[in-house]
Amino acid sequence: MLLYIHVPFCRRKCSYCAFYSKVPEGDDMGLWERALTAEAETLSRRHGRPRVETVYMGGGTPSLLPAWLMERVAGLLRRCFDIAPGAEFSIEANPDSVDSWGLRDLLSLGVNRLSLGVQSLDDNDLKVLGRPHTASQALSAFEAARMAGFRNISLDLMWGLPGQRVATWLRQLRMVTRDLRPEHVSCYALTREPGAPLAERLDSGELTLPDENEQSRIFVYGAEHLEAHGYLHYEISNFARMGFHCRHNTGYWEGRDYLGLGPSAVSTVAGRRWENPRDLAAWAEEALAGRAGETAEELSPATRAREMVMLSLRTSRGLSYKAYRALTGRNFAEQHATLLKGLRQHGLVRMTRDGVRLSRGGMLVSNLILERLMGEA
Ligand code: SF4
Repeated sequence: MLLYIHVPFCRRKCSYCAFYSKVPEGDDMGLWERALTAEAETLSRRHGRPRVETVYMGGGTPSLLPAWLMERVAGLLRRCFDIAPGAEFSIEANPDSVDSWGLRDLLSLGVNRLSLGVQSLDDNDLKVLGRPHTASQALSAFEAARMAGFRNISLDLMWGLPGQRVATWLRQLRMVTRDLRPEHVSCYALTREPGAPLAERLDSGELTLPDENEQSRIFVYGAEHLEAHGYLHYEISNFARMGFHCRHNTGYWEGRDYLGLGPSAVSTVAGRRWENPRDLAAWAEEALAGRAGETAEELSPATRAREMVMLSLRTSRGLSYKAYRALTGRNFAEQHATLLKGLRQHGLVRMTRDGVRLSRGGMLVSNLILERLMGEA
């Protein structure tokens, strides 16, 4: 089982963000802790104190939690879940809310992987994104994490930003691979979130995104740079040095069961899925009343098959024909023979006897390929 905990607090809202989070006020953190406790206890009872191989605290900004609260959360998790020896325990942190002491505390609580939300090493980009930190704070946070003893650090970066060119992107990646050498790098494409302030500035023409050609060059040259420096491109947006892939996210792509705690978190267990309310008060009311997970719905076989295709084709391993046949009773290669032939001729997929995966060019247009495959399902 994978375990996700959503910490819905941020210092302020970034201009592109679609995650559920709020600036904490009054007793928000106290309410979150009480409801989290109730939710963890309910789910632990219902699922028989399940064994957990990975824990991921995301948000929001989990590094905003004070040390005493983080300690209580770690205790709660140990009480309600059977955390496997050697479990991966990741936490997301923003560069403006970490220091060496806090990071040492996290390590002592069993956190062993830090995901640092750097997003860009260019202060102009950070301003456009409305991030609450500067590039130099990001570099200091990385150094503080190393000094504290973190040996598994991931950096989150964003590409396809307004005004970005392949040269500026490669300059940042060079700083990452030459000066920082994290174990893992996530490179997410900026997406236009309707209603977010950045989307409005893009819609009004005040800011413009790099054109399609430049975006392709940013993705492809960036991936080549990271691979040339020892980072395996193991998922569309993720790169890792040998042995440092994110076990938690890999579990999602492999279709493993996961429990999600906190507002907006999603859970999927034994073919049933539920989604928590995207509102602190509404989620807390449900959790405190012991109703966590009561809205679970059975996933249809068609949904499960669609998700298997969509998630596995994100990864460099790709889709296993055997796994697809075990789930659906069908032969994927035969079902999509004509489309796969065309995609292969255009160099967008690589096929073996055992399965199919996207090439780097295919990853670049993965949404279109998946749309076509889904249209044929
Ligand atoms: S820190 Fe992360 S979760 Fe918080 S507003 Fe910014 S992007 Fe969203």
